[in-house]
Amino acid sequence: MAEAPDGEEMTPFQAVSHFFNRAADLIQLPGSTREVLGRSYRELTVQVVVLKDNGDHEVLTGYRIQHNGARGPYKGGIRFHPEVDADEVRSLAALMTWKTAVVDVPFGGAKGGIQVDPRTLSLTELERMTRVYTNLISQFLGSHRDIPAPDVNTNAQVMAWIMDEYGKRHGYTPEIVTGKPIALGGSYGRDAATGRGTVIVMNEAVEHMGLDPTTCRVAIQGFGNVGSWAARVAHEKGYRVIAVSDSEGGVLNEAGLDIPKLVAHHTETGFVGGFPTAQAITNAELLALPVDVLLPAAMGRAIHCGNVETLQCRMVVEGANNPVTPGADKILNQRGVVVVPDILANAGGVIVSYFEWTQNIQQFRWDEVDVNQRLTRKLVEAYDRVATFARLQNVSLREAAFAIAVQRVAETAHLRGYI
Ligand code: NAD
Repeated sequence: MAEAPDGEEMTPFQAVSHFFNRAADLIQLPGSTREVLGRSYRELTVQVVVLKDNGDHEVLTGYRIQHNGARGPYKGGIRFHPEVDADEVRSLAALMTWKTAVVDVPFGGAKGGIQVDPRTLSLTELERMTRVYTNLISQFLGSHRDIPAPDVNTNAQVMAWIMDEYGKRHGYTPEIVTGKPIALGGSYGRDAATGRGTVIVMNEAVEHMGLDPTTCRVAIQGFGNVGSWAARVAHEKGYRVIAVSDSEGGVLNEAGLDIPKLVAHHTETGFVGGFPTAQAITNAELLALPVDVLLPAAMGRAIHCGNVETLQCRMVVEGANNPVTPGADKILNQRGVVVVPDILANAGGVIVSYFEWTQNIQQFRWDEVDVNQRLTRKLVEAYDRVATFARLQNVSLREAAFAIAVQRVAETAHLRGYI
């Protein structure tokens, strides 16, 4: 697997490859296994032609990349964003393989996306684009083959369109996507699961560090699905969430933000900015706040060599995928800042996606208390295993999480005869 030369900024896939190679060294993975697990199994690029409301056509590029399916059907979200490209989707697909393995759910890893700014599309254009894309990738999907889910700028409504479009050819198949609306077989608790999971894992790390949650100050970058739910659950558990932000900037209240009121303000205005009883801050200022926990929950590469020296937190909990570059990760480790890696910290979403898939296959629904209890159990077990490995091997939580995941995938790949 190629890595960028020292000192050069890595692409997203080079960054994930860097962490994979560290783990492969740690567990002494043989060369041919490294070669198989280090690359995507299948990469599909499609031309997505969207009929606009005014009769024009827009030609977009879409992707579905399947990284590894040794442990089960490919699983991973679909992202609509102007920065989506093959390298980013490839990196996110590989992360899904390691994420599903480290929390031990029986899935492989995949990711999809369309390079588009969905804010430029009407609702009908968004629906048409989603249906065209679904048809283009549908021969690679299947409820025991590849199961999409929401990611940046996609939601339960988008999943409903995918399910419907797929169902036109294959019949009623709710288990073809997760993150669906409850009315179509979605799971209770799925919407909140990724954010809730970040707080469950943060709580474990906080307790391991001997800190008291009620005195912990938390700053959260991003107030979408992950960030807003992380803020709500952290607030409920007694953490002091002092700052949050979105793409337009952030808000700070040293005494702790009133999160339920902030959620209402965000629902009404679409932004966190302008919230009464808080002062405006920039995203750069948010990252540099002297807090116990910094929780990046927006886009990748938010913390890099150019800004890592400004951080004053004791712990980073990676709500987003790839939010810390390898160069910044090394500096944080040297400074003794604990980094809880994305493949563990934001795995709550895929865990409840697994529960949703299981419920759909059984045509049976669990209540929200049941879902949240099972989610907590799975994440606490995974955190304990990773923390124990890290302590015994004297490595970072990220190195430990990747090593456990790579070992599990390698074992199944061998058993199935892939290598
Ligand atoms: P989202 O689209 O719901 O929210 C993204 C948020 O980030 C928005 O508040 C947006 O304003 C903000 N943002 C965008 N650019 C920013 C910037 N430059 N600075 C500050 N804020 C910015 O997306 P999401 O589903 O919450 O996903 C966020 C991250 O979490 C992504 O990295 C995603 O891959 C990852 N993730 C999501 C899930 C899930 O279940 N949704 C699961 C695992 C990981």
